[in-house]
Formats: sequence, C-alpha cells, structure tokens
Amino acid sequence: MTKYVYNFKEGNKDMKSLLGGKGANLAEMSSLGISVPPGFTITTESCNDYYENNMRIKPEIIKQINEQLEILEKTMNKGLGSLEDPLLVSVRSGAVFSMPGMMDTILNLGLNDETTIVLAKKNNDYKFAYDSYRRFIQMFADVVMGVEKYKFETVLSRIKEQKNYSQDSDMTSEDLFEVVEEFKKIYRKEVGNDFPNNVKEQLMLAVEAVFKSWNNNRAKVYRRLNGISDKLGTAVNIQAMVFGNMGDNCGTGVCFSRNPSTGENKLFGEYLINAQGEDVVAGIRTPKPVSVLEEELPEVYKELLNITKVLENHYKDMQDIEFTIENEKLYILQTRNGKRTALSAVEIAVSLVEEGIITKEEALLRINSDDINKLLHPTFETKALKEAKQLTQGLAASPGASTGAIYFTAEEAVQASSTKDVILVREETSPEDIEGMVSSKAIVTSRGGMTSHAAVVARGMGKCCVCGAQSMFIDYATKTVRIGDITLKEGDIISVDGSSGKVYLGEVAKSDSSFTDSFKKIISWADEIRELKVFVNADNEKDAKVGFEFGAEGIGLCRTEHMFFEEDRISLVRKMILSSTEEERKVFLDKLQPIQSEDFYKIFKEAQGKSVNIRLLDPPLHEFLPHDEKTVNIIAKELEISVEQLENKIKSISEFNPMMGHRGCRLGVTYPEIYLMQAKAISQAAILATKDGYEVNVEVMIPLVGIEAELKYLKDRIEFLLEKDIQQYGVPFNYKIGTMIEIPRACLTADKIANHAEFFSFGTNDLTQMTFGYSRDDAEKFIDIYKKKNILEQDPFINLDESGVLELMKIAVNKAKQTRHNIKLGICGEHGGDEKSIESVGNIGIHYVSCSPYRVLIAKLAAAKTVIKRNINK
Ligand code: ADP
Ligand code: MG
Ligand code: MG
Repeated sequence: MTKYVYNFKEGNKDMKSLLGGKGANLAEMSSLGISVPPGFTITTESCNDYYENNMRIKPEIIKQINEQLEILEKTMNKGLGSLEDPLLVSVRSGAVFSMPGMMDTILNLGLNDETTIVLAKKNNDYKFAYDSYRRFIQMFADVVMGVEKYKFETVLSRIKEQKNYSQDSDMTSEDLFEVVEEFKKIYRKEVGNDFPNNVKEQLMLAVEAVFKSWNNNRAKVYRRLNGISDKLGTAVNIQAMVFGNMGDNCGTGVCFSRNPSTGENKLFGEYLINAQGEDVVAGIRTPKPVSVLEEELPEVYKELLNITKVLENHYKDMQDIEFTIENEKLYILQTRNGKRTALSAVEIAVSLVEEGIITKEEALLRINSDDINKLLHPTFETKALKEAKQLTQGLAASPGASTGAIYFTAEEAVQASSTKDVILVREETSPEDIEGMVSSKAIVTSRGGMTSHAAVVARGMGKCCVCGAQSMFIDYATKTVRIGDITLKEGDIISVDGSSGKVYLGEVAKSDSSFTDSFKKIISWADEIRELKVFVNADNEKDAKVGFEFGAEGIGLCRTEHMFFEEDRISLVRKMILSSTEEERKVFLDKLQPIQSEDFYKIFKEAQGKSVNIRLLDPPLHEFLPHDEKTVNIIAKELEISVEQLENKIKSISEFNPMMGHRGCRLGVTYPEIYLMQAKAISQAAILATKDGYEVNVEVMIPLVGIEAELKYLKDRIEFLLEKDIQQYGVPFNYKIGTMIEIPRACLTADKIANHAEFFSFGTNDLTQMTFGYSRDDAEKFIDIYKKKNILEQDPFINLDESGVLELMKIAVNKAKQTRHNIKLGICGEHGGDEKSIESVGNIGIHYVSCSPYRVLIAKLAAAKTVIKRNINK
C-alpha cells in the first residue's frame, strides 16, 4: 500500500521530492527537537495521482489524511470542529523547489460561526478570534474559490477610514465581527454558496486547491522561468496553528541567519508584533528589524539567535527562517537555504569554508555562472552619484545599477521594454507582475520590506531593486509619481542603485564593478582544482587585455574578419573582393597586409608568449559588400566601373545559402592569395614581436575543413610561406597549423584530418548548426516553440547538445588522438562560456575552452566544478 501521508515525525530533509521542500524541512526540524507545531504532509505523489485520476482525490488518500488528522487531534488534545476545544490548522503548499509567492497558504482552517465563538470564549479574546476568522474567510475565498482579495480589502480600508485607524490591528472585536459578517456576504455573492461551516469540507477543499494551484498560471510562469519540471507536483502540509495575533507578546517574522544582501554573519530579518502569517511579507504594516526584538522580547530573541545557528550548522548553509511567537513562546514554521545575492553567495561560501563548516569544493559547487555574471555588473560612478539629483531613499533590496524609463504596470513595462530600458515602479508587486519584472532593468516599490515580494523575486532574478521608498506617491490613474515637489510621468528616466537603496533623477554614469577578496578566493580555488585551461576569444588587443586580466591563459580564437570591418579597412576589403583578376586582388591584399600585421603585433605583445590562435578568413564574402545605394555609388566610382557593373558583380557573389556556401577554407582554396596574405601578416608580426623581445606562440587556424585534402592543400602553402620567412629573416618563432572542427564530416574523418593538423578547435556554433541542420540565424523562431512543446529541452546553441553534437566531438577526439596522440584540443564556440556545456565537454579529453572575456571566470568555475562532480560520482 502506497504511503501518501507522512507525519512530521516520519520524514526528513532528504525526502524533498516526496514531501516537498517545506514538508521535508518541517520533518527534519521536528526530529532535531526544534519547536515546530505538529502536523503532517500529503506527498507530491498524491498531487500527481490527483491529476492522473481526473482531478479527484482517491479514497485511499482521504483515508490516510483522516488517520493522520486523528493523530494530530490526539497530540494537540483538540478536535477539528470541536465545540469544546477546536483545533485550527494551516494548509500549506510545498513543492520540491521553493516557489516564492506562487501558492498561497490558508491559515486558521477549522473556524466557523460556532468554533469562532468557542475560541473567543476559551481565550477570553473576541478580537483575536474574529481577526483569525476574517483572515480565514478571505484566504479561503481567495485561494480555494478564486475570489479576488481586493474585494475584501476594500471593506477593511473603509472601516479603518471611518474609524480613523492607521493599522489593521487597531480594529476592535466589534469592528471585526462586522467585518466577518460582510466577508461572508461577499463570499456568498461571489461564490454563489454560503461559506462552508463544515470543517472537514473546508479541509478537503483546501487540500484540493493546493493540488490545483500546481497548475495555475503564475506557478507555470515561475516554473518556465526557472526551468522547473511540470511533473514534480506539490505536497500539502497540514499543521496545527500557533498564533502571532493574540496580543502584544505575540508576533510573526522572517529572518536570515546571515545577511542575504551582503553575506555579513549577523541575524537579519523583520517581524511584526500582534500579526499573523503573511503580514510581514505582504508589507501591510512596515515591519521592525529583528534587532529590535532583542529589546522587546529579549528571551525570545536569544532563543531565535540560538536556533538559527543550530539550523545553519545542521544544514551547513545560510537559512531563511519563518517564525511565530505565541505568548512569548517561539515556534519555527519554516527553514530553507536562503536565497541570496551573488555578492552574499560568494561571501557566505567563503566564510563557511573558513569557519570549517564546508569544503572548498562544496563552496565552489554553490556558486554558479549567474552569480558571477551579477558580480560583473556595473555600479554607478561615485563621482557621478555625488552630482546626481537624488529622488528618494528606499531599502537596498537587490544590488545593481540600472537606468531606464519608468512604467507603472507590468503590462506597460513589458510593452515598452521592446524598444528601451524600463524600470517598473509600483506600490508593491505581486506574482501577477512577474513578466513585467522580467522585462524591467530594475524594480522600485513604495511599500514593503526586504522580504516583500518585489525584494525576494528581484534578488532571485539578479535584478536591481529598491523597496519601500515611502516618499513616492504613485497615482496609477494619471500614470505619475510624486516625490516631494517633483512629479515624474510615465516614460521619464530614473537611475536606481539597488546597493544603496537610492533612486536618482535621469541617467547616472556607471563604472565597472571590482572584485571582492572573497570573489578572488573563489576563483583561486577554482584555479587550483580545474584541469581544463581557459582561453579567451579576442579579436583585438582590448578584448585580449580584459581576458588576460580575468586570468585567461591564452587566446583561443582571434577572428580576423572583425578586423576587416573597421572603418579604414572595409573599403580596401570591398575592393579586394570585387576585383576581377588575381593581380587586381593582390594590389588590395598588399595594402591590407601591413594593417593586419600591425593588429597581430599588438595582440602578440599583449599575449606575452601565451598562445594566440588566429583564424583565417571565415564568413561568406558578400557579408562585406555594400548593400545601400550610396555606398555602392562611391565604390563604383573608386573602382572606376559603372554602378550597373558593380551591382551585377555583387549579385554574382551573393548566395542562396551562404552559411553552407563559399566560405571558410573554401575561400582559401579558391583564392589562395587571401589566406597567404593573412599568413604573411602573421609571420611579419611574429618576426617583429620576436625581435622586440616578445615570445610568440601563434596558431594558424584554417576554418570549416571537411575534407583532408582541403586542409593539406592550404597547410602546405602556409607552412611553406612561414618557413621561408623564418629562413629569410633568421628570426624563428613558434607556430602551429591546425583546423577548426565544425563540420560533421570532419568529426567522422578526424583521424585523417589530424595528419595535417597540430590542433583542433571545435567550433561548436557551426557544428551545432550543421549537426541539427538549424540555421543559427533563424532557429530562435522555432526553438522556442520546440521547447514549449517539450521537443527540445534546451536551446542547443546555448547548452551543448549531449546526445548528438557531443557524441560527434567524442568521435573526433578519439580518432584524432589515434593519429596524433599529443594533438591540442579545445573548443571556441559560445558553449565555451556556458557552465552546462563546459561540464559536458570537460570529460571527453579536450584540453581547453575558449570564451568571450566576460565569461572567462564562469569558464574557470565550471571547469573546476567538472572535476569536483567527477570525483563525487567516482
Ligand atoms: P509561503 O510558502 O508562501 O511562505 P507558508 O506556508 O510558509 O507560505 O505560510 C505563509 C505564512 O503563514 C508564513 O508566514 C507562515 O509562517 C505562516 N504559517 C503557516 N503555517 C502556520 C501555522 N501552523 N501557524 C502559524 N502560522 C503559520
Ligand atoms: Mg505566500
Ligand atoms: Mg513560508
């Protein structure tokens, strides 16, 4: 018999896939002896069963729920619906991965007209009882029946306004009684039935609602954004209630065992006295920082501090903890590894290693490429900030520096984001705003704290965010925001500093970010562990410099054609291409050669003896040709031919399928003089650099080889030229001649090709294009659809395809080594900077990856992780 329902005493933290994250951790904490209200978890399997069963909870599951409910009633010595001592429970969803704000919790279930009175009498507290009841009706109506929250909230606002209350908690028991009556009326009107008095019915409807919520829209969007499978299902936790809303020695809060923004090792969080559940997160009242609790309830604070350390040591990671205080007794309602900024992730990982809690390897596994990307984000220049006009100060919810045009609704932000940088400005955000947040460069809210929806979600996305900027008054109707005597309208530009919480008028200059010591430590640990070398793709000395500053160990790809596009060259290049005879072409090539030579010289100088891989001309020629009338006219004049003649020439060069046309080594074979000019430029630069005292290790790379003879033809000529130059000038330099592997045929005949190649560099972009037969330039149109229809799991141009492309690479590696055991092997496609792809290629016997400068650190980390994971799996 399948076990569908687990008591908290039966589970543990490793049962996440069955009990969900929340349930597994509630069970783990229960067995650690931490004060957690008792309860039980209905498994994710039950949720999946519900969907397989035509959305019905089958009798066996209901039976097991009832059995556990009885146990809970016995433990609590209360009964669900009992008129002597009613048991109240919370019904909490909990998926395998925490999905913040995706599925709402129902609190105080078990209240009805009768049990509320019993509860009031028992505690001699009508205010508390009716406050709990009105919350329950509203949550139940919202979560189970889909009645919009605001319909209830207007009642609260009206009463508060009539009576001149500033906060919900100012309402008296009479007010609350009235609220409950009105809420029930709203419920009847919206739902069509009375609010259910039958508590068992309440419970089963709530459980079912959690199952259903797994497939609501916002959950689906969240899963899609985070690459979470739709098949995992959610668990349901039923837990005895504890009350933070019973008076002034009660409260509820959220805290982190360390600062989630900076990583500082200090309890960080917020709480509200006399409040329940989501009050803190929802930003209804502005919460107090947890440090104030030390003064208000010192004993409770001490215990909280203690428990957070116990949990942190137990989980070996920073914890995000929800707690409730009922009459000065502390209960822990949730713990999980806390979400954090990249800055704090690195800080915490390094601290935990230094405190002896985790190993360097564990620390590295906790940092990912997103974190590194975020750390490389720019910040505002200090000087520019001093001169900028500050508009407001809110909470520094998520670091970063962004400038953009303000929009007040998610929808408008999404729309505007197609043409410009956008900043979403709202009173607060909710899960409905997710897409707007995704499309925005930054998020600013006027309400809510560090754990508000906006703050939590923005941190997760690595998006700059300022919360609770209270001096902003947003008027959604006129699409304006007033801050002091300044009024901004939709589309106006502001700059947001998520690291200080300040918002500025207009655009503020940014500067590159600097590395913290902890970040450097992480990278140095990665360097100790990794086996793959990391090279940089650099087309000019500037890129090379940045790459070397990040610690690149060589240049894995220098694309020579990019040099051709520069202003002073393109006209020469065009004339060269449009030449009718070899002689004519040589005239222009002779002019191009010294220019290219100078570029190479600068790169050799920058490389200081590190290997430099130069790829000879690769793209189809017509990419260089003019397409606009004006340029055509100018060039025709310069070439002394008619416009018509030129147009015919251009037409004759254009191809139907240029990606598979006259490009790469095919150009080299048909116009050897082009490749030989480039080889000459390389040798001249190398000779000059060597004479100037720089060591040169250059690799001449011939692209797009598919046939052994192609490579042999070109290699023989280039080698002859280089050797001749070395002889003639008497200046030897180190060179290798090799090829790019980017055509499936080259992989399959790699043993033959290796006869003529001292190195292979896998051009995984083209190799992916040719293996799938997908045009790199058009594929995004259908890849997205393929992903949605689960035909492709991921975009193969981003994450290297393991079953196809990687297999071809393995064949090539093995065959190449048969011919030439010491052949140098690497990859230089976009995949060289993608964490997942590096982990795939890290185990097939290649020596290096090469990527764009800003990805060098990502590649280093991924390379280290490859080794760590390999050792774990051994
Ligand atoms: P979420 O996943 O959105 O955080 P939770 O299930 O954690 O949802 O619950 C939302 C709020 O309700 C939290 O503040 C939590 O502390 C509170 N809560 C949940 N269960 C109980 C309970 N049994 N007693 C008191 N408060 C509870
Ligand atoms: Mg919630
Ligand atoms: Mg929670």
